[in-house]
Amino acid sequence: NTKKLLVTGGAGYVGGVVAAHLLAAGHRVTVLDDLSTGVREGVPEGAEFVEARVQDAAKVLDSSYDAVLHFAASSQVAESVAAPEKYWRNNVAGTMELLAAMREAAVRTLVFSSTAAVYGEPVTVPITESAATAPTNPYGASKLAVDHMITGECAAHGLAAVSLRYFNVAGAFGRHGERHDPESHLIPLVLQVAQGRRSEVAIFGDDYPTPDGTCVRDYIHVADLAEAHLLALDAAGSGEHLVCNLGNGSGFSVREVIDTVREVTGHPIPAAVRPRRAGDPAVLVASAEQARTRLGWQPRRTDLAEIVRDAWMFTQSLGEGDA
Ligand code: UDP
Repeated sequence: NTKKLLVTGGAGYVGGVVAAHLLAAGHRVTVLDDLSTGVREGVPEGAEFVEARVQDAAKVLDSSYDAVLHFAASSQVAESVAAPEKYWRNNVAGTMELLAAMREAAVRTLVFSSTAAVYGEPVTVPITESAATAPTNPYGASKLAVDHMITGECAAHGLAAVSLRYFNVAGAFGRHGERHDPESHLIPLVLQVAQGRRSEVAIFGDDYPTPDGTCVRDYIHVADLAEAHLLALDAAGSGEHLVCNLGNGSGFSVREVIDTVREVTGHPIPAAVRPRRAGDPAVLVASAEQARTRLGWQPRRTDLAEIVRDAWMFTQSLGEGDA
């Protein structure tokens, strides 16, 4: 069944990969993106492109659309600490406008990019969706506020919604890869060392209560993540807000990630232990049980070397001078 879909943030990393998967599945896709962090080349071929903010979704949405997949958001933790108002404006106020436009156009299905950052410091690992939510930064708080907003919209106005709480998204798909400016994420940073663009990688703390002392994270391949979004389109009933974690359920330490990059690239990757980064929990690993049972989702690219290989191919494809 072919659907007509609006993808906000479809010029970005995750939104672009999901849009490409939607098109491959035969759906019709309109990408709405203001190109504040996304790039025009990130919009997959075959998608209609509208350069606009999510606050202007009403200009595009009408009752011919079957659903919205909402990726457009500010997503840098450190920036959210320095400029929280940007996160309330873009993520919370922006989504409020989007929900109003959807109500107006009678588009009653939503898939939302939520995050593991809504949980904060976990009490038990693996983390289930019923775990306490206590975000430790404005980014996580803004995403949690939107999750609450969506719950109310479902109950009051019959929206069918799925919030997908991403753990550490990594890897690449075709020409869609992870790229931030400035870069703050571990795998792209280590790959910059392999590429000779950075002399060493910092290990933020090696005295955590983990097997090798460095932080453990649940890295999930962006293509696996994308497949969950396709399944989510049909998963919720009217009035229901389903919340699903997306992770592999297994963790890798910072040192294991660096070792894997050494194996994949053949580069020695000099690493230096630095002080802990504020707000980093020791271990973040998902229970993805809910995604398995409710979405019928099964991650297929769980080998860290495969994730790193795909990210490395993308990094190498970037031209000189590309950040
Ligand atoms: N990290 C690190 N050095 C870096 C960047 C990140 O040791 O230069 C660590 C960070 O402390 C965390 C893990 O790598 O434990 C993953 O960090 P990232 O920023 O990629 O994702 P997060 O888990 O913060 O969402």
